[in-house]
Amino acid sequence: LEETLVLVKPDGVARGLTGEILGRIEAKGYALVDIRLVQADRDLLASHYEEHVGKPFYEPLVEFMQSGPTVAIRVAGNSVIAGFRSLAGTTDPTTAAPGTIRGDLGRDWGLKVQQNLVHGSDSPESAARELALWF
Ligand code: ATP
Repeated sequence: LEETLVLVKPDGVARGLTGEILGRIEAKGYALVDIRLVQADRDLLASHYEEHVGKPFYEPLVEFMQSGPTVAIRVAGNSVIAGFRSLAGTTDPTTAAPGTIRGDLGRDWGLKVQQNLVHGSDSPESAARELALWF
């Protein structure tokens, strides 16, 4: 059984979409193992987004992620890492496929950072590293 870290980012929490997103995870058959509401600080985000340091969207992303609480969820299931990324849809909500979280619910705000509602780990190594950071 695999585990992944899902984040409902501050835009998702502020828009009241946490329940909708949890519902989609549960409806797919994945198990919610642990959940917490976190006000992320710069240190946590610097570790979480270490692969993006130096990119043009890095500073706006870290600012945005501190703009309000994030819901962190430990999710388990067969192939849940790839499965949740499929549920989430591609990074840009404008072109994410309908039926996905970002495609159905995401908006293009025309900002410096994609406010795309959710994060999901992209590999078993990332999942282990990120779960240790957020839990
Ligand atoms: P996540 O890792 O959050 O699940 P992802 O794998 O689709 O999303 P990454 O490339 O890891 O995207 O980027 C992390 C986050 O940084 C994105 O979810 C988005 O919020 C923001 N981001 C990525 N690329 C851009 C970009 N070109 N312009 C603005 N924001 C971006």
